[in-house]
Order: sequence, then C-alpha cells, then structure tokens
Amino acid sequence: MRDEYKNLDDFKEKSGYDIDGVWFPRVTKIVSIKAKPALNFFYASLKNYAEGERIKKISAEEGTHIHETVQSILTGGSPAVDENMAPSIKAFMEFAERTPIEVDPDYIERRIANLDERFAGTIDALALIDGKLGILDIKTSQAIYRDYNLQTSAYLATLKKDVKELQTRWILRIDQAQVCTTCGALLRNKGGRTKVKIDWANAFMRTCMHSWSPLPIGEVELKEFPLWEDDFRAFLGAKTLWEWENETWLKAAGYLQ
Ligand SMILES: [Zn+2]
Repeated sequence: MRDEYKNLDDFKEKSGYDIDGVWFPRVTKIVSIKAKPALNFFYASLKNYAEGERIKKISAEEGTHIHETVQSILTGGSPAVDENMAPSIKAFMEFAERTPIEVDPDYIERRIANLDERFAGTIDALALIDGKLGILDIKTSQAIYRDYNLQTSAYLATLKKDVKELQTRWILRIDQAQVCTTCGALLRNKGGRTKVKIDWANAFMRTCMHSWSPLPIGEVELKEFPLWEDDFRAFLGAKTLWEWENETWLKAAGYLQ
C-alpha cells in the first residue's frame, strides 16, 4: 500500500527528518518499500480497511508504551505501567535480572544521520550486553522477523562511524499472550483484536478446545545479529528502489538532482 502525500511538506514530514537544516529520508520509510506478504493475510482477515487502520493505530500505541517503559527502566527509572501491558514489563524486568543490559542514556531514542549514504533514523538504544557494545532495537511483535535486519544494519553502519567500539546489534522482543493450559497454544490481544496461534502440524493443538490462562504471560527474547554487511547492502538496494518510486517528490525536495 502506498502513502499518498498532500504536498511536499507532507511528503517530507512523513518520509524523513530535517537534521541541521538538511532533509534526509528515514530508515523505517525506506525499508517499507519491501513487500511484506504476511500483511495480505492480516488485511484478508479483517472486515474492512478501516478496521485494519484502527488495529494498527492501537497496536502502535501499545508498542510506544512498551518502548518508553523499557527505555525508562533501562535508564534507572520506575515508570508507571499500563495494567494491560504489565505482564510484558514484568517479564522484561525478570529477563533483565538474568541478562544485564547497560545503556547509554545519551543514545536513547537518538536520531542519527548517515551523511555518506544520505539517510537518517532513530535508534531505541545503544547497549552493552555480555561485554559487547551494540544497537538494541525493541520489538513487540510475535516473532523476530528477518526484515528487521535491514533496519538495524542501517543504524549500525551509521553509528559505527562515530562509535568505533560498536560491534553488534540485538533485537529485544517483548510480547505477551494467554496460554492454553491444555495444549500450549497462544492467545494474543494486539490492538484490541485477539488471535490464536497454534502449530498447525500438531493435531492435538488443532482439535483442542483451549482453556486459556486467566492473565497473559509475558515473553522476552533477545537475539543478536552480529553479521550486518550483507543486510546493509540489501538496505541500500531498498533505498535505491524507494528513491526510484519517490523520484518526483525527492527532486522537488532537492534531495535528488
Ligand atoms: Zn489448547
């Protein structure tokens, strides 16, 4: 689905950042050029387009709350937690006790620009985990998707220019679901909509009547992706395609000749 822009200012605002008076397209917008076939299933399961937009909006607000809460905890704060998302935060705090994560407060939600390749982005955190310094990106999805590697490679390639010790990147996935006490299936509530996740190869799960745990149970996963150069090449490919698609706007913005 393509965004439609009202005018040049609208395009610039939705697609990039002004950094010291220079406009740069942003990483998340650039990677959105890549098709996501799973999204077709999402839209196909809805009553109408508006329902999808509503779910995406609520889900984005939930994601923002998790980001802000986790970033606050990582920098020593004790933030108020939305009751609906308490299981996620509890699971994160237990996780952080087993796996210490040190962050640099100056790099929380830090906007960074790559002047050589001409793009910009906002990182969630710069973290020291297990003796390694890396980009930490927080996700509230039900799995860690390979597409995330395009985004985080762009951050790593950019920040590496200034922070020489930077060596890796992680996805910190935080989610919650009710669990079937009989078969282990998961019931997620995302953006006000519930969805059951089972292993379709498992006949027992397919036929189970499911008895859900009364409250959701938080789930935390930290995964490192140390090899980033190939992903960054793919990111730059996506950027070339994104620029081609938006050529008219980018010329009007003075970004392309
Ligand atoms: Zn079940």
